[in-house]
Amino acid sequence: MSQIELRDVEKVYNSEVVAVDGVTATIESGEFVSILGPSGCGKSTLLFMIGGFIERTDGDILVEGETVHEPGPDRGMVFQESVLYPWLTVEDNIGWGLKIQGVPRDERREAVQEFISMIGLEGFEEAYPSELSGGMQQRAAMARVLVSNPNVLLMDEPFGALDAQTREVMQNELLDIWQRTGQTCVFVTHSIDEALFLSDRVLVLTARPASIKLEVDLTEFER
Ligand code: ADP
Ligand code: ADP
Repeated sequence: MSQIELRDVEKVYNSEVVAVDGVTATIESGEFVSILGPSGCGKSTLLFMIGGFIERTDGDILVEGETVHEPGPDRGMVFQESVLYPWLTVEDNIGWGLKIQGVPRDERREAVQEFISMIGLEGFEEAYPSELSGGMQQRAAMARVLVSNPNVLLMDEPFGALDAQTREVMQNELLDIWQRTGQTCVFVTHSIDEALFLSDRVLVLTARPASIKLEVDLTEFER
């Protein structure tokens, strides 16, 4: 059983904008797959449907054999802009998901601290998002999703707003974490460089409406 199965998935907004048109693909457990395509082609729409944030118009989406109807703890989503709560400290932001899940305070602190070290934000535990650089905010946002260890990591151009140097640091951090955890990663980007650097496999989409134009297997090559 594949981790993610997309069968003829379609999305039409307001009965007129066809955003995704018949995407069929399978993604295996532990795979790093990029979804590459021009801006506005329907990449986010596809990812949001896998996340269960928006309904598809037609077709099937299965994650571990179960049809997706809504968001679930098995799927963690990292958005384009870091979405941290401005009124919570870095530590409380990262621990938020665990708190919702009812993880006790001590256990939460330990898990959060491990991620804070991993992403190099030691000393910023008590800082608020507005006190951090863009790169630091995006790291904290990534940590907030990673800390609850979802089986599937869905990332919507998470590094698009960063400068080139910070982006490279973050890409390497993500690969380190992904290699360590064995999570399945679905990464949306419009950057060919980024897709080639990060992925085992690239699904290239057509301009809107999105359908799969080309699949590139990169597993034989070194990253
Ligand atoms: P991408 O992520 O590739 O940039 P999107 O999935 O965001 O593309 O958008 C695909 C198409 O669907 C675009 O033409 C966009 O304008 C349209 N679209 C996205 N969200 C909505 C919405 N909520 N209502 C209507 N049209 C939408
Ligand atoms: P990033 O590459 O994460 O965006 P920057 O290049 O902006 O980080 O900053 C590099 C380092 O400078 C950070 O890791 C941090 O140690 C320090 N720094 C950046 N912004 C702040 C801040 N607002 N307060 C204190 N230290 C900061």
